[in-house]
Amino acid sequence: MPAVIDKIAEALHLHKNRSTVASTPAFDEKKVTVIFVLGGPGAGKGTQCARLVQDHDFCHLSAGDLLRAEQHREGSEYGQLIQTCIKEGTIVPMEVTVKLLEKAMKAAIAEKNSEGWEDGRGRFLIDGFPRKMDQAEMFEQEVCKPSMVLFFTTTEEVMLERLLERGKTSGREDDNVESIKKRFRTYKEQTMPVIEQYEKLGKVAEIDSSVTIEEVHEKAKVAVQKSLARSN
Ligand code: UDP
Ligand code: MG
Repeated sequence: MPAVIDKIAEALHLHKNRSTVASTPAFDEKKVTVIFVLGGPGAGKGTQCARLVQDHDFCHLSAGDLLRAEQHREGSEYGQLIQTCIKEGTIVPMEVTVKLLEKAMKAAIAEKNSEGWEDGRGRFLIDGFPRKMDQAEMFEQEVCKPSMVLFFTTTEEVMLERLLERGKTSGREDDNVESIKKRFRTYKEQTMPVIEQYEKLGKVAEIDSSVTIEEVHEKAKVAVQKSLARSN
């Protein structure tokens, strides 16, 4: 695996030893609000992000969706790597995901000019990321610091049921029992430590997502409003 990562870092023109690179994030957290949206697979991140976009003109970026788009992009050198990671429920080398997110953020800031998007300002819901501690560190150093983490929680039984239901129509290669079990494991082992770290910093709003979409949305909306009020 390290050889693969080196190859990718090289292809993306990333320096191998990042500590020698001046690390000013690409975006100023005073102008750009980043909210990380986390929770297990099937916890409701995507559904709730779609609702929150309507409330506050966020740009919703799902790391998984960006990776799937890159997987299918003609000429992408990461197609095979992404496909394997997604099916196995493992995490794609962070360089790929962080670059995709940064590129999408730049594009949104250049294009949008509605309220909250004037003079290089912007607000993002980054869904399903960071899933591992090293991704969080790289994103903070190179892209932007998050203002908060929305953390949706429910039981594995509920998540499994939702994912299997979604699998009937999603066409996703990872909405099957075998992949789901692997995703749960990656979530517990790699993503929970990220959430715990942000909890220590007082940045996490935990929301029980076992109830109806509307009820969850109401709670998420209040948490987001508080965070936006703080950063304005
Ligand atoms: N993934 C990844 N890095 C990320 C986000 C996603 O490697 O930062 C991969 C990983 O293999 C994951 C898959 O993409 O299992 C699907 O992610 P998605 O967020 O779409 O799943 P969800 O949590 O929404 O069910
Ligand atoms: Mg999702």
